[in-house]
Amino acid sequence: MAEMFYDDDADLGVIQSKKVAIIGYGSQGHAHALNLRDSGVEVVVGLRDGSASRAKAEEQGLIVKEIGEAVADADVVMILTPDQAQRGVYAEHIEPNLKPDAALFFAHGFNIRYGYITPGEGHDVCMVAPKGPGHTVRRQFEDGRGVPAIIAVEQDASGSAWDLALSYAKAMGALRAGGIKTTFTEETETDLFGEQSVLCGGVSKLIQYGFETLTEAGYQPEIAYFEVLHELKLIVDLINEGGITKQRWSCSDTAEYGDYVSGPRIITPEVKENMKAVLADIQDGTFATRFIEDQDAGAPEFEALRAEGQNHPVEKTGQELRKLFAWKTTDADYEDGSAAR
Ligand code: NDP
Ligand code: MG
Ligand code: MG
Repeated sequence: MAEMFYDDDADLGVIQSKKVAIIGYGSQGHAHALNLRDSGVEVVVGLRDGSASRAKAEEQGLIVKEIGEAVADADVVMILTPDQAQRGVYAEHIEPNLKPDAALFFAHGFNIRYGYITPGEGHDVCMVAPKGPGHTVRRQFEDGRGVPAIIAVEQDASGSAWDLALSYAKAMGALRAGGIKTTFTEETETDLFGEQSVLCGGVSKLIQYGFETLTEAGYQPEIAYFEVLHELKLIVDLINEGGITKQRWSCSDTAEYGDYVSGPRIITPEVKENMKAVLADIQDGTFATRFIEDQDAGAPEFEALRAEGQNHPVEKTGQELRKLFAWKTTDADYEDGSAAR
């Protein structure tokens, strides 16, 4: 059974006695900076020169400095730039300015797990990874609730790295919901596996194949869109509330019986073998190397795949249909984080 931690298990005073630098002010960065600030923690935001985010952070009353300056004064440095940018930002701006006993924090273990960042021995290395998008993390906090987080210590130089990580998680509001103890290796490998095989990769391909199968058989694209994409959210909400059992309870007996007899014809045991191969590439670093090498080359493969995905017919159908319906997701929903892009 996983070890769980709640507000009563953590001492907010630990993080309140530290100066915290939040590097980056994107999805996670803004949520960490604002939640910690509102929990009474001294926060500075570190941004690159000419950063487009500076004005946004200052509007919220936060102090913004250039990354090196923000780091120089900090006891805790939370790195919240995109994973592929962290190695460069660390080498150029963080490492040369880091206090010898400052703690390094991450919200995902990628750079530590694959050795792109190797902090010196004097630093605590911790992870507080909220299990939700940054905008949800902020909104839940403001509503007096929290998004659960998983917490890990990779290097305990101070002897009290765990108490520090737990205190940070409490200031984020995460322990209102609960924190689970993990390791950098477990978080990184399971996070990559989940998004690749089920959440992002698996679901996207399943939708595209479903849409192609119906439209190639002559059905209207708009109808196909409803059946294989729009309703997915409704199904996932039920699974989220009460597991697959609640989803099966709520849908018709026809749908439930079809689930049992046809699901295993679509997702065959071969799919599980493919998942094991994807997991092996994550574990041995093949995926990480491919991602970072492409990013270092200017992301040609990434950009080509992104363009191909955006040109799939299900995207065009969706764009037109969403304009016509009252349930359409608006740009305002995207901006306040109620919808994920
Ligand atoms: P974002 O893409 O939202 O980060 C954007 C921020 O990083 C901006 O402030 C941007 O600066 C800055 N930035 C980008 N490139 C550079 C660079 N080369 N040098 C300096 N600053 C740079 O990141 P996320 O919030 O999505 O992810 C941050 C971390 O959190 C990652 O480790 C991710 O895996 C993890 N995570 C993310 C989740 C999410 O929901 N997004 C969920 C859980 C964990 P500027 O403003 O100047 O453009
Ligand atoms: Mg991830
Ligand atoms: Mg139906």
